[in-house]
Amino acid sequence: MRLFLTLIVTFFLGCSESKKENTSNNSTPPQKATLKVAYVENPNFRSHTDNELLQLLESTKKTSREHFGISLTFEKIEHLNIKDVFDLLDSTVIEHYITPNMLNIHKEDFTHQEIMDVQDNLRLALRSNKNSFDAKVKYAQKYIISDQNVSCNGSLSKALSDTMFAKVKSYKKYLSKDQYNEWLYWSALGSTQLNYDIIITNTPIISVEKTFLDMHTALRGGITVGTTEYNPHTQFKTFVFWSTFAFFENDSVIKQLRNSETYTTSEALELSGIYLTHEIGHMVFHFGHPFSQTSCVMNPVPLLKFREWSHALNPQQCQIGSSPEMQINAVNIETNFYED
Ligand SMILES: [Zn+2]
Repeated sequence: MRLFLTLIVTFFLGCSESKKENTSNNSTPPQKATLKVAYVENPNFRSHTDNELLQLLESTKKTSREHFGISLTFEKIEHLNIKDVFDLLDSTVIEHYITPNMLNIHKEDFTHQEIMDVQDNLRLALRSNKNSFDAKVKYAQKYIISDQNVSCNGSLSKALSDTMFAKVKSYKKYLSKDQYNEWLYWSALGSTQLNYDIIITNTPIISVEKTFLDMHTALRGGITVGTTEYNPHTQFKTFVFWSTFAFFENDSVIKQLRNSETYTTSEALELSGIYLTHEIGHMVFHFGHPFSQTSCVMNPVPLLKFREWSHALNPQQCQIGSSPEMQINAVNIETNFYED
């Protein structure tokens, strides 16, 4: 997932750092919650029955209780038409938030400025994360495709950017002309009147933005599994969008990121539900990303290795508050889309 933080920063090309603004909220998280869920189906990809979605959510419920001690229930799943959903986006949001931040990944080459924008935003994400630099390098190192020598957040962001641009070219077959693959479009749904806590989709979300990017997304080459974003109309003032694509797609390009594993339907749903708990952690508790702490559900899945990641989870070894990124309100989730 990617979180947008309100930061006051100066970008540097070297290894210097500047301070960020902290604007956490102080409310006590609930011990139970009832969540509104919608399913948005893209007819071009493998669809889901209600029973499958319920199996996924049951897995989220179990994992959320085990890791966070929260008791979740879900309202009846509502089905929404994907075109109708994106037609809700206001032209002002498209003009001021989406279009300026989109990067056309259909083309072969990217401009120097585009690459620098991506690097700057990766650097911003690295600096906002409270893990040690060594923990971040440990998480990323074996997946980096770059000659860049990594010695600080600046050079790590260059290595991540190199990796992202190298990989994203192989995903063109999943990109649609309707732009349903674009992360910015999903992110901007928080600007509509939709009030779902969780929006599940079967569509791939694969893109590169000239705005805030996270390390694990870059290492995957721009593949997003889920994100928790701002939405003033929901109970937690956030919403989650969640793609099941990476659990079910068995093309070799995607499978390679999954340790070349193929999951049964049942395992794919269970793993997707376990990983959706990660977004519950962002949505309800505002946890961050304890990179390399493999017992934590908040440690993002490296590439798409869902099975390996889930086997390492251990809530006893990752208590709430046990590390800076596992503190309640470790991060803020605030508005990104254009507001005047
Ligand atoms: Zn996350």
